[in-house]
Amino acid sequence: MPAGAKKDGSIWEGIETVGTVCYNFEPMFKKIDFHVHTPASSCYLDHIDTSHGPTYARDIVAAARAMGLGAIAITDHNTAEGIEAMRKAAADAGIVVFPGMEISARGGHVLATFDPSTPVETLHRLVSDLKLRKHQMGQGFEEAPMSIDEVFEVIAGAGGMAIAAHVDRRPRGFAVSEELRREEKQRIYSSSYLAAIEITVPFDKVNWNKGLMPGYPVGKACIQGSDAHAPEEMGRRPVYMDLERLDLAGVRAAFEHPESCIRFPSEVMANT
Ligand SMILES: [Zn+2]
Ligand SMILES: [Zn+2]
Repeated sequence: MPAGAKKDGSIWEGIETVGTVCYNFEPMFKKIDFHVHTPASSCYLDHIDTSHGPTYARDIVAAARAMGLGAIAITDHNTAEGIEAMRKAAADAGIVVFPGMEISARGGHVLATFDPSTPVETLHRLVSDLKLRKHQMGQGFEEAPMSIDEVFEVIAGAGGMAIAAHVDRRPRGFAVSEELRREEKQRIYSSSYLAAIEITVPFDKVNWNKGLMPGYPVGKACIQGSDAHAPEEMGRRPVYMDLERLDLAGVRAAFEHPESCIRFPSEVMANT
C-alpha cells in the first residue's frame, strides 16, 4: 500500500488515487474517463440544474482532477470545437487529453478517439470527411449520412480509434437498436475497424470479453464512460487501465488483453 493510502476499514481501503495513478496493490492502473462532453455539445447541462452558471473548460478539468482521473477523452457530438480549450486547461493540471468526438450515424453513436498529439485540424477534417454539415455540429440527434460501420472505417483512416458508444443503451446503442436487423448488428460488431465497445451494464463486461453475449460470439474489449454532460458527472463511470504508455498506442495494446489490462470500479473493489 502506498504511503498515505486510506485505512478506514471501507471497501476502498488500500486504494488511493494520486495524480494519474491508481494504486491497487499490484501494477499501476491509470484512471481514465473515455466519454466526456463539453459545452461544445448543445445538450451540455441539459439534465442538470444550471443555476450555478456557465461551465468552462477549467471547471471540467477541476472535476477530473477531483475524481483522480489521469486522462479524459473529449467526445462532443459531431464536432471538435471544444478540444483546444480543454487541452489548454488540462495541460496545467497534468491531465492527458485524448481528442476525439462522438459521431451520430445510421445505427448508433460512435466514439472517435485520437492520440493526444493529434492536431485539432485532423479532427476538423474528420467532421468534413464524415459529410457532417455545419448545422449538425454539436447536435447529437443529427446523423452523418453513413452507417455506423462506415464511420468506423473513416475514423481509422484518419488515424483514430473507433469505439461503439453505449452499445447496450437505447436508443442509440447499436446492439439494442430497433432499426437494425440481427445480421446488420453482427456485421457492425465484427468490423475490423471497431477497436472496442462502450457498455453501460458493467456486470456484462466479462461476457463481452469472452464472446459469451447472445449473438456476439467473438470476444471484444469493453470500456465504460461517464457520458458526462456536466462537471458533476465527470468520472462517474471510469475505467482503470494497465498501460505502459498513456497514449493511443498504449490503449490499443490494452485492448488486446482486456481481461488483464482493463478494470471497472466494481472489479477494483472486488480485489480489495
Ligand atoms: Zn451517445
Ligand atoms: Zn455522449
